Amino acid sequence: DSFEALGIKESLLTHLKEKMKIQKPTSIQKLVLSHLLSQWKGQDDDLFINAQTGSGKTLAYLLPIFAKILGMKIRVDRKSGCFALIVAPTRELASQIYSVALTISNCCHYLVPCLLIGGERKKSEKARLRKGCNFIVGTPGRVLDHLQNTKVVREQFSQSLRYVVLDEGDKLMELGFEETITQILSILHDFQLDNSIFPPLPSRIVHVLCSATLKGGV
Ligand code: AMP
Repeated sequence: DSFEALGIKESLLTHLKEKMKIQKPTSIQKLVLSHLLSQWKGQDDDLFINAQTGSGKTLAYLLPIFAKILGMKIRVDRKSGCFALIVAPTRELASQIYSVALTISNCCHYLVPCLLIGGERKKSEKARLRKGCNFIVGTPGRVLDHLQNTKVVREQFSQSLRYVVLDEGDKLMELGFEETITQILSILHDFQLDNSIFPPLPSRIVHVLCSATLKGGV
């Protein structure tokens, strides 16, 4: 089983193989890629990934999301909307995920990820958000803060948002973020998505939950 056979284009892979020294998909990547990129109905179902850190879970969910965006018939740039929100329990993890997203984005310079973590001045985050981005990676409190108080984030998410990833879901709960996550999801679920302009992205928001300790899932 290769990344190509699982539906990842050569152009995306050449770059990744060089930059990240990856060759073959890990077992979790095989499972997640075949689920999220399958031609069958199941591709738009929510997904629970049971994976330890170090298993390659970050690429497992990021690669199919990038592949779907690159498969869209419209020309996408940073102003086209934000397609994915990835929430992580700590600044360190959010920064790591962001740097992987940045590496993948380098193969397609018109896709732009944005990092939202506490500890940075909100004003500079707002300025970056105003320029537009296609992915947001952040910690729960700061993501909720922007969703509630930064109009441009709601504008970028509404219509285009299709993937919400909760990374290290077990740790999010352990650190007491349940209420914050519930509030984030309830804001996102109020968006009216426009289904006419984004195939092959799913027509609804797909939730991906990663956890090392919860049982069940792929
Ligand atoms: P993660 O589980 O996402 O934190 O990834 C752990 C490490 O595995 C990271 O340093 C990745 O760069 C690396 N990695 C991810 N996928 C692969 C792969 N298919 N082959 C080799 N290394 C990988």
